[in-house]
Amino acid sequence: MKYHPDRNADNPDAAEAKFKQVKEAYEVLSDPKKRSAYDQFGHAGIDPSMGGRPGGFGSESFSDIFGDVFGDIFGASRQRGGAQRGSDLRYNLELSLEEAVSGTEAKIRVPVLVTCDECGGSGAKKGSTPIICSTCHGHGQVRMQQGFFSVQQTCPTCRGTGKQIKDPCGKCAGHGRVQETKTLSAKIPGGVDTGDRIRLAGEGEAGERGGPSGDLYVEIRVKDHPIFTRDGANLYCEVPISFPTACLGGELEVPTLDGKVVLKIPPETQTGKLFRLRGKGVKPVRGGPVGDLLCKVQIETPVQLTKEQKALIEKIG
Ligand SMILES: [Zn+2]
Ligand SMILES: [Zn+2]
Repeated sequence: MKYHPDRNADNPDAAEAKFKQVKEAYEVLSDPKKRSAYDQFGHAGIDPSMGGRPGGFGSESFSDIFGDVFGDIFGASRQRGGAQRGSDLRYNLELSLEEAVSGTEAKIRVPVLVTCDECGGSGAKKGSTPIICSTCHGHGQVRMQQGFFSVQQTCPTCRGTGKQIKDPCGKCAGHGRVQETKTLSAKIPGGVDTGDRIRLAGEGEAGERGGPSGDLYVEIRVKDHPIFTRDGANLYCEVPISFPTACLGGELEVPTLDGKVVLKIPPETQTGKLFRLRGKGVKPVRGGPVGDLLCKVQIETPVQLTKEQKALIEKIG
């Protein structure tokens, strides 16, 4: 109670940090597995944000802490009616290398739970209204006597809403939310790579009983390219050169992501030599220098030689 945010309005951040510690301690003590992990590895052994699960959706809002640990004890701190934030969603988006490098506007279709428009989220049939819960008389909470303590708990009949639906809405069957397919337009910045995530705030699942919506995370996967492979900001490709060009030098057209460029091949070029085209790679999405294009030349061995050609080559050898 000492670190309850209502009593620490002048320093809510410090109170929240303390609360998280208390929550962690509570979890460790109540879960034998976590307890042994804590004993072995300390804090890092149980905190998903400290390694283990990379990235993840482990962010916890303050309300979660109340919800799963203290919500029922400090009944008053919980929002009346049990409003809950909707879930975060993840959408896997495949992009071509060109789209990933230059950026694109992606149309994505996601199935989401949205507030039912038929009943406005109340869950009650049109024209009817939910009645006051007979168990908790509309409070959403019930008091239970446990030994010396009187503990306030979420009402099991109405699950905290304080209301009972006698005549459920036909569209959402009383849930107040329906599944729908939303089409969203996501602006993908240039330079993204596989594993990058773009957050669309508030585009996740609708909250329950008037709670805020979750977020939608668009996770990028860049498809293989027939010519280029990518390593961070650099691109690689292999280009064939003829045997005479390798010997005598010459000019070679090589592909880049924005058209062909001419590469000068010096005489006596060996197969496997890398040529660097500065600035023809990728501009990283998080800033930094533009990468290079590295072209590896592969000498094509001449085939179907005439007698005359063979004789000439024998002279080289
Ligand atoms: Zn409905
Ligand atoms: Zn109730």
